[in-house]
Amino acid sequence: MSGDLTRRRLLGAASSGLLMAKTAQPAGSEQPAISGGSPVRTVSFPGWPVIAENEERAWMKVLRGGKWNRLDGDSAREFEDTWARALGAKHCLATANGTSALIISLGALGIGPGDEVIVPPYTFVATVNAVLMHYAIPVFVDTDPDTLQIDARKIEAAITPRTRCILPVHLGGSPADMDAILEIGRKHKLPVIEDACQAHLAEWRHRKVSTLGALGCFSFQASKNLNSGEGGAILTNDSDLYRVCQSFHNNGRGDTGSGFGYVRNGANLRITEFQAVLLTEQFKRVEEQSRRREQNAAYLTAQLSEIPGIHPARMYPGATRNAYHLYMLRYQREGFANLPRSQFLKALEAEGIPCSSGYTPLNKEPFLKNTFDSRGYRAIYPAKQLDGWLERNQCPVNDQLCEEAVWFTQTMLLGPRSDMDQIAEAVRKIHRHAPALAKS
Ligand SMILES: *Cc1c(COP(=O)(O)O)cnc(C)c1O
Repeated sequence: MSGDLTRRRLLGAASSGLLMAKTAQPAGSEQPAISGGSPVRTVSFPGWPVIAENEERAWMKVLRGGKWNRLDGDSAREFEDTWARALGAKHCLATANGTSALIISLGALGIGPGDEVIVPPYTFVATVNAVLMHYAIPVFVDTDPDTLQIDARKIEAAITPRTRCILPVHLGGSPADMDAILEIGRKHKLPVIEDACQAHLAEWRHRKVSTLGALGCFSFQASKNLNSGEGGAILTNDSDLYRVCQSFHNNGRGDTGSGFGYVRNGANLRITEFQAVLLTEQFKRVEEQSRRREQNAAYLTAQLSEIPGIHPARMYPGATRNAYHLYMLRYQREGFANLPRSQFLKALEAEGIPCSSGYTPLNKEPFLKNTFDSRGYRAIYPAKQLDGWLERNQCPVNDQLCEEAVWFTQTMLLGPRSDMDQIAEAVRKIHRHAPALAKS
């Protein structure tokens, strides 16, 4: 089919050949690559994005048609129908990006100055920036160390009379504990916005995430599992909320067109026809890619779980599908003769396995203090509320997690199963040599 698939098959063949070469080596003679030995893997993982003729054809059609704006063309509407149907939602509104999807959603719920929004500290900064764009206060609830998601057991304690919304993130594509979160939302009459920016096709009890709360937000930024360079979407089953989102993202117009009738404040946060047509084409591969990631991740987890000190992120029992935007685990150095995480990551990179240490604690980011010190925030909030904010937003479990986390990216799960064998073998190899590596 596509050149990319052929390339992937070749990569697969190359990597399994390498594995055989490895096992042929006499036991005991190996050295970690970081100490001058030969690496477990010498070829790269599958590339991203996948591009084929269908993208080219569709893109050129929009280009030549000259209708590049969604108010003139049909491509945005077509993608919205496709994505809404795939997720089982009544409405989908495509947006400029995931950040704007969050900003629009909060705006549609009337979140503004004086309001508090409950967020996790283990997320991309955009989750929190969207709250700050409305001059509301993010209230951080600590992380569940087993799943790396917001700890739903700690949400109720964070609710105050000023709380207006709960904004959980399905981080890495693994669903947050939606039974608990939705129940708290119902009990306290708080709408839930799902940040599903990393969770394309993920499911909670066989329902797609983003359709469970009042509104759900996606990102189609270049790294995401469905990608148009930049792009986003809001999903909702609430027709009134949908209309407000539509209006807000179209400069506050009262209708869906380009006239001059304004009914609220808003902004231009529309998607382009180019982004939309790419999404419609990329969408055709999403199911198959997601299945492959899931199968590879399950296989990898079975192997990694056997290694002392390696704890792959668990899923809640209600999570029936994980999008695996990230493959996340906790690295506990005690299992590796006290080898620091930074050294483990370097050793793993040297074995040909790209990896990262993930997020740093978002609640401790200095930019938050700067924001709260700004003229706007000082005009809205009493000094006592802003100055005591950091003490009230401590997340010790998350702090610890940020010292332990290790991530692999979603593209590493798109190749053959033998790629997983190599990832696991690289980790085992470092584990075998950890005492020596820790001393060096
Ligand atoms: C990517 C991402 C966003 C923001 O999406 P953009 O399209 O980059 O604006 C928001 N939240 C999370 C969790 C994300 O991963």
